[in-house]
Amino acid sequence: MQLYNKLSAEERAQLIDEAGKDRLTISFYQYHNIGNPQVFRDHLFITWDPLEVLGRIYVAKEGINAQLSLPADRFHEFKAHLDSISFLKDIRLNVAIEQDNKSFLKLKVKVRDKIVADGLNDDLFDVTNKGVHLNAEEFNKLLADPNTICVDMRNHYESEIGHFDGALTPDVDTFRDSLDIIEADLKDHKEDKNLLMYCTGGIRCEKASAYYKYKGFKNVFQLEGGIIEYTRQVNEKGIENKFKGKNFVFDHRKSERISEDVVSNCHQCGESCDTHVNCANEACHLLFIQCDSCNKKMEECCSVECKEINALPYEEQKELRKGKSNSNKIFKKGRSEVLKFKK
Ligand SMILES: [Zn+2]
Ligand SMILES: [Zn+2]
Repeated sequence: MQLYNKLSAEERAQLIDEAGKDRLTISFYQYHNIGNPQVFRDHLFITWDPLEVLGRIYVAKEGINAQLSLPADRFHEFKAHLDSISFLKDIRLNVAIEQDNKSFLKLKVKVRDKIVADGLNDDLFDVTNKGVHLNAEEFNKLLADPNTICVDMRNHYESEIGHFDGALTPDVDTFRDSLDIIEADLKDHKEDKNLLMYCTGGIRCEKASAYYKYKGFKNVFQLEGGIIEYTRQVNEKGIENKFKGKNFVFDHRKSERISEDVVSNCHQCGESCDTHVNCANEACHLLFIQCDSCNKKMEECCSVECKEINALPYEEQKELRKGKSNSNKIFKKGRSEVLKFKK
């Protein structure tokens, strides 16, 4: 039985083009005690591979976190399979607003220790004692309450291109860091203020809200389904959209535009811009914001140095990279001294 990808990303992209079918990009998660994650993982792969599902799915003892795409005409089969699994029956699926047939090019189902790398010791607190879940309308109402502190639970490169009006956006690289910084900032308001939090699809708030309740916060609320579900409800029900800019997403689309506002700037020239790119120098791969004119001038690179390296023949680039294999990890989080206009 084939339990892993056979095709390269290029071969897969070609097949998608040839098929000429619309694909849906979907995400969902569920915290649930899974006895044998490896067996569950294999079951998902065996069932989803024939349905032409592609994506990145994490399975752990604590549950499942899935980001994937599939042909629109296979959706009902896929949904029927989810409904056949007790803890995934009728689960809310976040469907991407902007469709991209190549959002994912491989099916990767991985067994992990956790479905989100949150750095938390879950034995310390009750992860099921969560905050109050709010829909878009309820969220807007609480956001307008002067007694509310709204916190963006995402990382700096995510909130930089889009966030809710008036939200605190911690300048952090990881979820774990944000938990401590927010707690320190709000330590005098554990009982008198509403702590209102949101993230991309809701999953980070599931843990964060339980964590803050354990830390003594009395009024903890979270946006159910995150920015993705909020946007869907805003569009469907004609509710006022309080989110400004773009929603950062973790596939090759990089973001979805939610409002026409551009809230960030090009990291190289300071012009108003909210387009993320990865530095074209493979050894760097820095994630940063770059406007069209800088993109052309710098040939999609973050620095003159990277531009020069990127112009070398591939073999010479490989030679230069020897012994420096970690450089892309260092820069991965979107921070570098070469970015003059990164706030
Ligand atoms: Zn620029
Ligand atoms: Zn670079």
